[in-house]
Amino acid sequence: MKIFMCTDIEGVAGVVSFSEQAYPDGRYYDAAKKLLTAEINAAADGLFDAGATEIMVLDGHGPGAVHFEDLHQEVKLIHGRPTSPRYVRDRFIEDFDACVMVGQHAMAGIQTSNMNHTQSSKVIDYYKLNGKLIGEIAQFALYHGDFGIPLIFLSGEADACDEAEALIPEITTANVKQGLSRGSAISISAQKSRALIRKKIAESLLKHKANPIAPLKWEAPYVLEKRFFHTSEADAAESLPGYERIDSQTVQFKGNDIREVIYR
Ligand SMILES: [Zn+2]
Repeated sequence: MKIFMCTDIEGVAGVVSFSEQAYPDGRYYDAAKKLLTAEINAAADGLFDAGATEIMVLDGHGPGAVHFEDLHQEVKLIHGRPTSPRYVRDRFIEDFDACVMVGQHAMAGIQTSNMNHTQSSKVIDYYKLNGKLIGEIAQFALYHGDFGIPLIFLSGEADACDEAEALIPEITTANVKQGLSRGSAISISAQKSRALIRKKIAESLLKHKANPIAPLKWEAPYVLEKRFFHTSEADAAESLPGYERIDSQTVQFKGNDIREVIYR
């Protein structure tokens, strides 16, 4: 079984601060990259324990956050910024059997979620798809669901686990950090988080093999609503093709192809 793994840094145990751990000029950024990479390696070990034959890892955090030298020797890594167009990268993963997410945070606006945001923590207030608030988990699951690839596992912050379970009730999650507020959390230890991820992700793949999880699909047509913090960002978006301004800070984008719509 071929598994595609999307990674992020904000839902890793021990990572709690944007400025110190998630931005490249943060004084603990390199240390945080090592924490993420150890969770990726634990996830890879668990997947191989359960019979995975190939793992492709996507370094999904904005500026990149995989510590390459420490990365599991049996995985391949998609990395580099700016990222390739999605259709270029998709050729390498479209025949994969399942996808998983590691190090995930909840969508923007979830009060207790540590490091909550959707895409840009500096400009995005919220995304809605067909009237429903969505975050990066739904974006990823719907995009890959269109290829027929189900999301079967997620590790990260407690609210991210809840968000994933609300979208995909059969998903397996590993909760490694309980958010208290956007800037604080209770983490389990690095060692415990890795052990939990390895165990739960192996369970998720065995469960999926025995009883396959369906890819996430929502009915077309799609209306993506994107609200910014500032009018200037809506001014800029409105000038791009396909966007319609609906109020001072909000634009929408309509379409029938989820892959064309979901990451606008
Ligand atoms: Zn991130």
